[in-house]
Amino acid sequence: MKQSLIKKDISSFKIPPNLENYEKIRKSFSWEKAKSQIEYKNNKLNAAYNAIERNAQNWRKNKIALYWIGAENQKEKYTFSELNQLTSKFANLLGKLSVDQGDRVFFFLTRVPALYFGFLGTLKSGAIAGTMFAAFGPQAVEDRLGNSQAKILVTEPDLFERVAKVANKLPYLKTILVTGDPKETAHLKIHGKQVINLFELLNKQTAKYKTKQMDPKDYAFMLYTSGTTGKPKGVLHAHQAIIHEHMSAKYVLDLREDDVYWCTADPGWVTGIAYEILGSWSNGASTVVHNGRFSPDIWYKIIQDYKVTVWYTAPTAIRMLEAAGDQLVAKYDLSSLRHLASVGEPLNPEPIRWGIKAFGMPFHDNWWQTETGGILIANYPAMDIKPGSMGKPLPGITASVIDDQGKEVGTNIEGNLAIKPGWPSMMKTIWRRPQKYKTYFKGGWYISGDKAFRDKDGYFWFIGRADDVIKTSGERVGPFEVESALVEHPSVIEAGVIGKPDPIRGEIIKAFIKLKEGVKGTDKLKEEIQQFIKRHLAAHAYPREIEFIDRLPKTRSGKIMRRYLKAKELGLPLGDTSTLEEY
Ligand code: ATP
Ligand code: MG
Repeated sequence: MKQSLIKKDISSFKIPPNLENYEKIRKSFSWEKAKSQIEYKNNKLNAAYNAIERNAQNWRKNKIALYWIGAENQKEKYTFSELNQLTSKFANLLGKLSVDQGDRVFFFLTRVPALYFGFLGTLKSGAIAGTMFAAFGPQAVEDRLGNSQAKILVTEPDLFERVAKVANKLPYLKTILVTGDPKETAHLKIHGKQVINLFELLNKQTAKYKTKQMDPKDYAFMLYTSGTTGKPKGVLHAHQAIIHEHMSAKYVLDLREDDVYWCTADPGWVTGIAYEILGSWSNGASTVVHNGRFSPDIWYKIIQDYKVTVWYTAPTAIRMLEAAGDQLVAKYDLSSLRHLASVGEPLNPEPIRWGIKAFGMPFHDNWWQTETGGILIANYPAMDIKPGSMGKPLPGITASVIDDQGKEVGTNIEGNLAIKPGWPSMMKTIWRRPQKYKTYFKGGWYISGDKAFRDKDGYFWFIGRADDVIKTSGERVGPFEVESALVEHPSVIEAGVIGKPDPIRGEIIKAFIKLKEGVKGTDKLKEEIQQFIKRHLAAHAYPREIEFIDRLPKTRSGKIMRRYLKAKELGLPLGDTSTLEEY
């Protein structure tokens, strides 16, 4: 489908973007120079020092770092200095619990302030912080704590039961710290484990702490991938990741001193760590955190009340906001917004155009992975957008498309999206799976596992996960382009497309479609949608089968789980579903 270019006119920007001239900065950029923006002491650094402590010592100390909104609309504020003190107390607390460098400290929390200061406090101490999404069930918790051999777990009263169920299968887990009022947590016990109230212990610590300066390659945090394609992998990141996260937050999210920034991702996933804690605070932006469920009304109210300027969210949320209607947007004053970005899944052109209509500006798609530790390919504020494209590589990043033999392919040719290794936030290993780690590298490239092509202007286009590309009647079809075309149809909200084995065609395309509210899923509509795709995309790319469904299966980070649709369709084992949203 032909999409028109979204032109950017720098002269219309109130303030020039941080990355004013992509080509120029790209040419002169080096990671060595970028290091000068990060504080090193004798070639050592600490990611948490750069994200929080440095700001608590400079002019930002009394500036609000965190605006926190609770599930019941409670409101709290923390300055950089206050937050830093809490991180120091937490680091001291870990010392009391005999946590050593490299020990794993895990967080199983909703987005409460303890998650933020606890994470940074762990980094300060030289231990490895790990996070888990609060909606995980006992099995998912056991898998992650078991694999990581975590020594300490921080959780909250409402989640305690799920931990208690599996704790006896976790021999390495020594101590469980529980948030909440000490009086109300006193009864919580697990045989053979130390259970302590977090705040009771925290309040006994001093806010004086000498942050450990680490080797750049020392591990800082670990995160399990989203499990979209299979069993989640425990990805290890080093302290030096902060260099990349700082620069990318600056160039892609365009963060500045005076921004009120809202990243809607959960710190259970990499986006919530890299750009809600590390790169965003290292740039000195004030961060908004909402510890509640998605609700279009509440979201718009947050933007209005906190005067959010930069908003980083995900395609699934954008599509849901769009489904909630334009009238709702009009009820709020969202004029503070100046830059919108999206990550996690391909962003279809349609929601980009809707963003312009609803907010007066487009969402800027960017691509990266848990393994990459930071944004690698992006649409920048000052660069024209080709809707449906992921944009261009970040300065300092060499991206390419290679064939299965590791040879670079020409423009407009589909292949494996690959990156030259060596950027600072590249994963250091996959925890206890060194062989798996090795499979990512081939012929001097990091192979992402995604299929893409590059056009003549250097823009990268996502086709689909390597496993999801459909081979039908000798043609290769990416699910993304079919899904994008489907959501252009006025009755369609979301679509997930799979290849279904077929004796004649190899595979046929099957689309699972969620319709707009009030629209009836008739055979006539199926036919109409099929014709629509034939007309707008290509005759061979139309879904021969369509099934209307109420909800698409998604990971808890909001990604369509195509492998689940496929397994169900074919009656195959469902595989690891620990990250599947209730469905
Ligand atoms: P798993 O590796 O466990 O299967 P996952 O790949 O979904 O899960 P993440 O690391 O959270 O885990 O997600 C990275 C993947 O998300 C990318 O490889 C890509 O497939 C997809 N993705 C992220 N951002 C974009 C984007 N802007 N456009 C297209 N795809 C994206
Ligand atoms: Mg992946």
